Amino acid sequence: MRKDWDTYFMDIAYMVSTRSRCPRRHVGAVLVQGKKLLGTAYNGAPMGVPDCEEAGCMIAEEYELKIIDGREEMVKKQRCVRTIHAEQNLLLFTDRNDREGSIVYVTDQPCWTCANMLANSGVVEIVYHRPYPKDSEKVITMMEHKGITFRHLAGYQPPNDTVMSVSN
Ligand SMILES: [Zn+2]
Ligand SMILES: [Zn+2]
Repeated sequence: MRKDWDTYFMDIAYMVSTRSRCPRRHVGAVLVQGKKLLGTAYNGAPMGVPDCEEAGCMIAEEYELKIIDGREEMVKKQRCVRTIHAEQNLLLFTDRNDREGSIVYVTDQPCWTCANMLANSGVVEIVYHRPYPKDSEKVITMMEHKGITFRHLAGYQPPNDTVMSVSN
């Protein structure tokens, strides 16, 4: 059976994500203009700089307020700050004029910083697969304000061998 466009471009985003060398998270993003692929990117250290496989992840710890069994609790979270996020790399390597009216397919729901940058990038639609609950609420509100279509591809299944297990 022929793949629909959503599946087609999300499959490519997952293929791209396998290039990432951060063992904590593999994220891929693609830029699509009128069904044409204009760019691909994944999360990684700047070119020529030791990456997570060579130098290890650069861990930042932060506390997050979570509701657990109806009670507020501070939960310690770790994330890797060595990498430039896939969405940010996508913006660094594509042209502003090309982006006007385009769609971004990204394997993971963008974090707040990436969402903020995408909102100012000319992109009119963002399609993601894996949810990222931490920033979800404020990102969705911002996209509504901005009039950007923000779509969760809920029933989607990534291609075999493109998904790594991530430690959080
Ligand atoms: Zn890392
Ligand atoms: Zn991000």
